[in-house]
Amino acid sequence: MAAPIIGIDLGTTNSCAAVVEANGEVKLIPYKGGDFTIPSIFAIDDKGRELIGHEAKRQWQLNPKNTVYASKRLIGRNYKSDVVDTMKKVVAYDMDEGGKNDVVIKVGKAKLAMSDIASRILNKIRDVAQDYLQQKVERAVVTVPAYFTDRQRQAVKDAGKQIGLEVVRIINAPTSASLAYGVGKNLHEKVIIYDLGGGTFDVSVIEIRDRVFEVKSTGGDIFLGGIDFDNAMIHHVIDEFKKKHGVDLSTDPVAMQRIKDLAERTKIDLSARQEAPFHIPFVSMTPQGQPLNIEMTFTRKLLEQLTSHYVDRTIKIVEDVLTQSGLGVKDIDEVMLVGGQTRMPAVQDRITKFFGKPPSKGVHPDEAVAIGAALYAHSLEGNSALRLQLLDVIPMAIGLEQADGKFHVVFPRNAPIPNAKQVNATTSYDGQTELAMRIYQGDHEMVAQNELLGDFLFSGIKNGPKGHAQVEITFDVNVEGILTMSAQDRATGKAMKTTIRVTQT
Ligand code: AMP
Repeated sequence: MAAPIIGIDLGTTNSCAAVVEANGEVKLIPYKGGDFTIPSIFAIDDKGRELIGHEAKRQWQLNPKNTVYASKRLIGRNYKSDVVDTMKKVVAYDMDEGGKNDVVIKVGKAKLAMSDIASRILNKIRDVAQDYLQQKVERAVVTVPAYFTDRQRQAVKDAGKQIGLEVVRIINAPTSASLAYGVGKNLHEKVIIYDLGGGTFDVSVIEIRDRVFEVKSTGGDIFLGGIDFDNAMIHHVIDEFKKKHGVDLSTDPVAMQRIKDLAERTKIDLSARQEAPFHIPFVSMTPQGQPLNIEMTFTRKLLEQLTSHYVDRTIKIVEDVLTQSGLGVKDIDEVMLVGGQTRMPAVQDRITKFFGKPPSKGVHPDEAVAIGAALYAHSLEGNSALRLQLLDVIPMAIGLEQADGKFHVVFPRNAPIPNAKQVNATTSYDGQTELAMRIYQGDHEMVAQNELLGDFLFSGIKNGPKGHAQVEITFDVNVEGILTMSAQDRATGKAMKTTIRVTQT
């Protein structure tokens, strides 16, 4: 019997997998030692060995330059983008520009593309699943942040392909979480999924009508997650240490790793208590060679002060997504919290205040996304009795660059998918046989602030005076939010050759 299609939650900080077993029960796939999650971390040690997951995390402090974490933030990105500049400031590993204007990471002696790293993490998850199922796993449903662009989705599919893992469907993480909540309950509800994970924030308004899950609107911030809460603490610790001892720890990678580690642990501790010690012995030395220690106490209150602007940002996005859905706070039946960072009491308090009721306990914040992916994977199996219909939307507008650098929107944000649109074009000079079009995704008026999806070249136009050709260009966004482009000569009905060149202006 062929192995089932598994569901994979490919997270920024942790990944996990689930499967519907032969008896119909949905189960998280355990990793040895009983953990259900694998850190999304890849490293190469000083002997040139590749380490993935817990092994990579364990040696992180000692080998920060060759330990790649939060790489999901970089996948499918142009090297020359603001996101990449920001990342360079906060991570210890080195980045460079790849051949496709993408990001490559220098790790050990290797230069790896982001899809190489994602494929290694996927491979590890697949190994664990194969061990558990005692079968070869070849197909998976993989979740991505709702706020991922077409190019980022494509990169995840490619990562699967590299290791012979067919990503049968990409689905959005919040949509997946809503499946974990709603499948098999015959619900008729409007829910909001607030997903604040390690690296990204996503929010979706979803209407559940029994087995139909219809996303009304979605939004998010690919650059807002638990890591940012950690960084706020780290900056505070560094500032205090500098004030006290005049030593700047930010230039010392080993000290930084130790602070980073303790910051995350302390943050998690402070979800359960009001204060926690923050002690790191021998973190540095005075110019005279005397050892220096960090000895502070972190209170929950201080953590909340340092990070309240992040929580505010999530609420602003929630407001916007609600407005886009045409619904009000009162129309929402349940609020679901997903992602580890939602365990912070301040996050829960803000949500309770905003919606006037506490969030639902209906889903497990760490498990819902993988569980939903496994349920959806199961529904795609030929012999499955589970029939689910997911109706999702495009998270950010897709359109083309106009001559003045402005963004001409073809699909607005929150347009339902799958979706297709035609745009007519013609030649602008005599003898023109090719048409070039630069496609972007984003919500800014100027293309320069959006993400470049690709440079498309349509060739085979019959030689003639300018304006004679009538070219119909079709934009097709599939159920996964992935765009394909095609063109035809309207006079002859003949399909034109389409070439994609991803370039950076
Ligand atoms: P996820 O991507 O959903 O695995 O979320 C991971 C993020 O959640 C990391 O930034 C963790 O530090 C954070 N996290 C996990 N547990 C807690 C907790 N109890 N309180 C606050 N943050 C947490």
